[in-house]
Amino acid sequence: MMAQPSKMKVQFWGVRGSIPTAGRDTFEFGGNTACVEIRVPDQDILIVDGGSGIRNLGIALNKEFQANPLSLHLFLTHFHWDHIQGLPFFEPLYNGANRVTFHSGRAPAESREILEGQMSTPYFPVNFELLTAKREFVRACPGVFRHGPLTVEAFPLNHPQTAVGYRFECNGAVVVHASDCEHGDKKLDSVLRHYAQNADVLIYDSQYTPEEYEIKKGWGHSTWLEATEVAKEAGVKQLVLFHHDPSHSDQMIRENVDRARLRFENTIAAQEGCSIEL
Ligand SMILES: [Zn+2]
Ligand SMILES: [Zn+2]
Repeated sequence: MMAQPSKMKVQFWGVRGSIPTAGRDTFEFGGNTACVEIRVPDQDILIVDGGSGIRNLGIALNKEFQANPLSLHLFLTHFHWDHIQGLPFFEPLYNGANRVTFHSGRAPAESREILEGQMSTPYFPVNFELLTAKREFVRACPGVFRHGPLTVEAFPLNHPQTAVGYRFECNGAVVVHASDCEHGDKKLDSVLRHYAQNADVLIYDSQYTPEEYEIKKGWGHSTWLEATEVAKEAGVKQLVLFHHDPSHSDQMIRENVDRARLRFENTIAAQEGCSIEL
């Protein structure tokens, strides 16, 4: 069994945006798409997004819990491919003893229909209906989810077809997940700052450099530069650059972190396989 964290533990299983990028140039930070696991003491396991990184999480959970049933809460930011494409390969969904609650910004019937869609003919051989885990669908946004000492607040992000940010709070520790989002919408910029207030960890969409952003305005993503502004204005303790662009090599991500640190010192880049314990 994994040792229980004292407050919260964040584990990165997928940190890439848009499309998985296997290869030598992306090996260090990782090529799997979005999936973050959050553990809190003695409670259900929390997961943000089901990108390709969730496959390895499923394998690790089976190994850790063996025959013990799992109770999982999956918080989906939205339904773009890079956030759901790993779900058909998530082994815990194929075990009838497990329970998985899908939280998202959509109504329960709608989110179920969307997830059924990606596994329907002719896209995938196994139908969503054939998954044996008990599944429940919940609209998370707007709203608050409480579970033991844990509170999860959902808030809207500026992204094509919208996305949801999540503020996780447990035993005084706060982790905020804000991806995918583009800055520049006055109202939603201030909503983000409100929910990111005094977070111990802010995981933020930093897909582009400021130079790239100039030609990719309106595509729904932000920059490491904006990430540092949010971190400063919201009084965040640690900033995690997340949702790396598929064209960004390890070398480029390291450069982005170096540039970001000149403006906000406690900055790291999300890295597959790495964790933060609070
Ligand atoms: Zn994405
Ligand atoms: Zn997206």
